Amino acid sequence: MMIAKGFVASLLIGAAFIRSGQTAETLKIASFSTVLTEIAQQVGGNHVSVAGLVKPGQDPHEYQPTPVDLEQAADARLILLSGKHLEHYLDKVQQATGAKAESLAVGDALPTLEMKADPDEPRAKEAPNGMIDDPHWWNSVTNVERATVIVRDALIKLDQADQADFEKNAQTYLAKLAALNNWAKRKVAELPRDKRKLVTSHDAFQYLARDYGFKIYAIEGVSTETEPSDRHVAELIDDIKNQRVKAIFLENTLNPKVSREITRETGAKIGGSLYADGLGNGDGSTYEGLVRHNISTIVDALK
Ligand SMILES: [Zn+2]
Repeated sequence: MMIAKGFVASLLIGAAFIRSGQTAETLKIASFSTVLTEIAQQVGGNHVSVAGLVKPGQDPHEYQPTPVDLEQAADARLILLSGKHLEHYLDKVQQATGAKAESLAVGDALPTLEMKADPDEPRAKEAPNGMIDDPHWWNSVTNVERATVIVRDALIKLDQADQADFEKNAQTYLAKLAALNNWAKRKVAELPRDKRKLVTSHDAFQYLARDYGFKIYAIEGVSTETEPSDRHVAELIDDIKNQRVKAIFLENTLNPKVSREITRETGAKIGGSLYADGLGNGDGSTYEGLVRHNISTIVDALK
């Protein structure tokens, strides 16, 4: 069912790209982040055509660009990247595009939270102190507001003639994000501080936790590439029991096997599935829908 939906979504995005790509004057953008794809479409409006190369529901940690993706990137004037080292395939993109396109790693301009790297993870070897940048900046609405301003300014730089439209569109989108953040704060306020404990499949919600005062207990590390060790799972089970955590959460892109095992051992229930790694299908097909889904699911299950 998920695969079928994802397939339809990809077809729709492909169709949209071809349709708007036929207008000669549109600014071509290639995006390796589902959230940045939405921002670029909202701010760029009909002045841009955005090829969303990482598709909704696709795991960005596991994603590899296809030859067609690289062609679309090479054809774009602006390449949007998540940054914070999420795009481990960056050399391929750079090889394909050369110096022609401007590439903008939006996350690199946002404040960084660090996290302990899983020793089995490839990136851990590059981190002498064992700490790596947490790439999941989009799980903070404040960060997405900042990202919108960064994308707006990049569009203005490349297409000054449409500056007024980009500014107006960005203002509209920013107003929606501000309202969304206010809604999220009110929703989280329903949950007492000592119940703000978030057990998730991989460590993707640090930025959300910082914004709304949660403590994170992650089953996997920052990336989804490694399986958790038995020792780590045993420690987590102890934490969940000691902290009397009522619910743990699954993710749309991950195998729920270990999470289910933990619920059997602890008596905590499955609180629902969260969108950890960007836009997905269903509720999470827009950024607003994603945030509303994640916050409601978390708060309602932990109450
Ligand atoms: Zn992730």
